Amino acid sequence: MEPNPVNSMLVMRAHWLIRLRWVAAVSVAVGTYLASSFLGIALHSSALYGIAALLALYNMTVFLLLNHFARTNGEVPFWAVKKIVNIQISADLLILTFLLHFSGGIENPFVFFFIFHMIIASILLSVRESYMHATFAVLLFGLMILLEYLHVIRHHCLGGFVSHCSCGDTHYVLGTFFVFAVTLYLVVYMASYIAVRLKQAEQAAREANSLLRTKDRMKDEYVFRVTHDIKGHLAAIQSCLNLVASQTVGRVDSAAADFINRAHNRTKKLTYFVRTLLELTQMRLSGKLEMDAFSLRETVRNAVGAAESIAREKSIPLNCHLDPSVGDIYGNQFSIEEAITNLLLNAAKYTPDKGNVTLSVKDRDDSVLIEVADTGIGIPEDEIGHIFDEFFRASNAIKVERDGTGLGLSIVKHIIERHNGQIQVESELNHGTKFTLTLPKKR
Ligand code: ADP
Repeated sequence: MEPNPVNSMLVMRAHWLIRLRWVAAVSVAVGTYLASSFLGIALHSSALYGIAALLALYNMTVFLLLNHFARTNGEVPFWAVKKIVNIQISADLLILTFLLHFSGGIENPFVFFFIFHMIIASILLSVRESYMHATFAVLLFGLMILLEYLHVIRHHCLGGFVSHCSCGDTHYVLGTFFVFAVTLYLVVYMASYIAVRLKQAEQAAREANSLLRTKDRMKDEYVFRVTHDIKGHLAAIQSCLNLVASQTVGRVDSAAADFINRAHNRTKKLTYFVRTLLELTQMRLSGKLEMDAFSLRETVRNAVGAAESIAREKSIPLNCHLDPSVGDIYGNQFSIEEAITNLLLNAAKYTPDKGNVTLSVKDRDDSVLIEVADTGIGIPEDEIGHIFDEFFRASNAIKVERDGTGLGLSIVKHIIERHNGQIQVESELNHGTKFTLTLPKKR
């Protein structure tokens, strides 16, 4: 099943929050140490260290919880991530209030940190939930300063930082509380406004993408059906032409025989083109390839065998170097053989007579590198970015080789991507080209 993008995004952001919290826990501990040891600020250090430890502990719990959900369900359910993020933000607000209480309460400038939580809530949660968190923060902060004002709980004055405690100053307390509440609601309003618009744009892009994929699939299905039909008719035409060619030997004049021959050759080329297009479309349509462990040595041998006759016709030696440690890899043997064969055939095709083609297979830790290098015509620099596009043929290639579909490299690219591999090309015009396939050895 394809992962739900909204869900994955929320999980990603929940993990981001966890990373931020590690930084926060360390900062509280280090900040407390520096402030009390070097700046001489009177802090309730033991309480603050305790809160830092609690923060780390609870962060670890959230981390394990997310991992647990991901392990047991494959994907963390949306309601679970949402709940976890809501709990995280509420707990963060609570912890921040305790931190403030033990470090000066209303006098502590870190009271601004509530704003960060409002922004985070607006990004991650719905507008309603963000306002609820703003209300929760206002209540927590209000309760703290009220209880300190009424001396119900102790006020830990920030001696060394402020000259006198303001927790009992009615105007100051009321004014700060009012500004605090208004700021939080305003921040939520503005951040949610932006976040909602971004989410809408994100959703629109996702929908457009999905529509494009559907249309692309419809196009592939259409091409598949048409090429399939054409292939059938072509096969019939070709067998008729074969019959005509064999039955008219010596019975028609040379001009007629030439026409029959030309029609035969054209049909053969068209059949090849249609077959290649059909194969590419089939590959795009079908979800997956059958994968298994197979011998790369044997596969390379088969590919070289398939390209040998064409290379021989042009007196091009096919040099082959395999690292002795190259063994089995995981994948679809038939497709990999086809990819290597395609590259070798291209190398022979686009290399002038008596040139050189070299195939090297290099063993790396987790992957193998398959390089096919030639001393051929090369690819013009400004066209190199297009050679994997369907039907594209470089301008110099068309001049030296009329026949070509421009589909071979697209097929190779598809095959390699299906194997989670990479294909790279380096080329110098009139000097040669090197294709490098990187394939993972294991599943
Ligand atoms: P085709 O060979 O049928 O034209 P491909 O998809 O196999 O189609 O290759 C696309 C284009 O990439 C070729 O037309 C050619 O311009 C270029 N190309 C591929 N391989 C080589 C090579 N070894 N040397 C030079 N150009 C190449």
